[in-house]
Amino acid sequence: MNDTIIPTTAAGQLGFSFTAAGDRTAGQRRADEASARLAAGFDAVREDPQRLKGYLAFCARFTDYSARNKLLLYLQNPQARHCMGFRSWKAHGRQVKRGERGLTVLAPLLRRPSAAEVASGADPDRRVPYGFRAVVVFDYAQTRAVADDALVYVPPAERLDAAGPAGLVPRIEAAVRAVGYEVVTTDTGYADGRCRFGAKTVEVRAGLSPADRAAVLAHELAHAVAHAPGALDTDEASGGQRRPSRASCELQAEGAAYVALAALGLDTARCSLPYLKGWAGGCDDALSAELSAIDRIVTHLLELMCIGPVSL
Ligand SMILES: [Zn+2]
Repeated sequence: MNDTIIPTTAAGQLGFSFTAAGDRTAGQRRADEASARLAAGFDAVREDPQRLKGYLAFCARFTDYSARNKLLLYLQNPQARHCMGFRSWKAHGRQVKRGERGLTVLAPLLRRPSAAEVASGADPDRRVPYGFRAVVVFDYAQTRAVADDALVYVPPAERLDAAGPAGLVPRIEAAVRAVGYEVVTTDTGYADGRCRFGAKTVEVRAGLSPADRAAVLAHELAHAVAHAPGALDTDEASGGQRRPSRASCELQAEGAAYVALAALGLDTARCSLPYLKGWAGGCDDALSAELSAIDRIVTHLLELMCIGPVSL
């Protein structure tokens, strides 16, 4: 392999490698800058719960990008709503305004597997990532309509119930049943909720407000879809090998519930932030994995709540 691993610790921990270059092109320099910005951004988000809250709210209204690229876009423009390349905007009847500066995201560079890799079991039809290149995109606000049928931005997830979370509880309860669990309202002791994988029940404390009940149900539903024994075989990042720690499960469940409910119009920041402060303990690798896991769980939750397919 000719690839050079960028030696800065944070970028290295994030798993980036870049193609070797005696003369680095402008694109490669942008990729380097983006990786440095991302590494710094992970630190900032990790150490500041308010920043993390802002990032998660950003995720709730943003589509089509990986966890890394969402964080990159958030760091460059927290107000961004929908981003595409110059040509894609043109194909959708919109023109990037004169003088607008693009936002950088990272796109994987792919190659065919080598003969040796195929001999040792790699799928010959599956491209192998070997690095990243910088791609420039523009936010919706940086464009103007130039055609009658120009794309007009609408939020990716419609609110289920403008009246608030009242309509949300039965929706989440149906989602819990759809994955084979029974909702049991009971005295749950210290916790507001509990997901029992063996008994296939989601327990919720009696007497909660509808908003709190929705928040608890979404959290426990996240456990049911992501953390039940056997659920990890969908976890590509860990190869299905590693069972997350208890703290990791809690962070993923609460982060995913927070994003999914925000997408559905219920802000649970008040009760979610104490959980999310625990992120401060992780290393970059762990945080990157958590963001990816939360992404996958959110997508699953929103599909279960019958508003999918949604890509967050
Ligand atoms: Zn939990």
